[in-house]
Amino acid sequence: MDQVQILDKTFVKYIEKKDIDAACEKMAGQINEDYKNDEPILLATLNGAIIFAAELMQKLTIRCRISCIKLSSYSGTTSTNQVKQLVGLNEDISGKRVIIVEDIVDTGVTYEHMVALLKEAKVKDIAMATMAFKPTAYKKDIPVQYVGFSIPDKFVIGHGLDYDGWGRNLPDIYQLKTEN
Ligand code: 5GP
Repeated sequence: MDQVQILDKTFVKYIEKKDIDAACEKMAGQINEDYKNDEPILLATLNGAIIFAAELMQKLTIRCRISCIKLSSYSGTTSTNQVKQLVGLNEDISGKRVIIVEDIVDTGVTYEHMVALLKEAKVKDIAMATMAFKPTAYKKDIPVQYVGFSIPDKFVIGHGLDYDGWGRNLPDIYQLKTEN
């Protein structure tokens, strides 16, 4: 399938599953090396990262565990009164090395919030392992240690990434088709 239609939008094939597998293998090799004397906790962010996180974890040969988290935002009574919290993180992670596993890092807003919350939880250190990264959209100074693909600032779906909840099951990554 070179093109898919989801709701009102057309997407064109952009990254093939075999290339995602290769990038995942390479990332796992780096993590195996960097954490060879440790027992990191992978924190897979729901819902998008579940596919990539499951694949990455199976390629890790070090001792490791996984937990799933979701960052939720609630608007309070005023627009400035916003609360962000981690849903699903119900184990003590203080003193642990944490690797956040993401489907995509875009502006970095989500990543920054997670880092703040994990620091509050007094983890030993934090790294980011993301399937895709949009460097031109990224607005933060926090380093992104493990990147599968650096991609342009265009909307993508597939391999866990959705458009309005759809498209996560596509094995390949597709990019929004823009008419020229
Ligand atoms: P942030 O801007 O905070 O780095 O990214 C927040 C979230 O926006 C990501 O975790 C992801 O859920 C969503 N997102 C950003 N860019 C894309 C994209 O190109 N495709 C899809 N499906 N989601 C995206």
